[in-house]
Amino acid sequence: MHTLNKDLVWADSEQSEINTTCKLCLNCCGMIVSKTGDKIKTKGDPANPLSRGFLCLYPLKQIGPRGAQRWQRVSWEEAIKEISKIH
Ligand code: SF4
Repeated sequence: MHTLNKDLVWADSEQSEINTTCKLCLNCCGMIVSKTGDKIKTKGDPANPLSRGFLCLYPLKQIGPRGAQRWQRVSWEEAIKEISKIH
């Protein structure tokens, strides 16, 4: 299993691709991470026998009070805009 540590995995190459797993929950979906220059992309790994190419990753925006667990799916553009307001 690879570690998503770009300093170790991608130290000597401009472009590379590794197979790994998402660890945001217990499903551990198969994921392919590729790097071109300083850009990193992720996609589901179709060869993974459990997740078969699925990744649930998309941005969610909290729409209710904190702790109410009310979320709305938003575009990456909107998520980045919201994050830039915070930082
Ligand atoms: S892609 Fe979604 S379902 Fe799969 S391990 Fe990550 S968080 Fe869990």
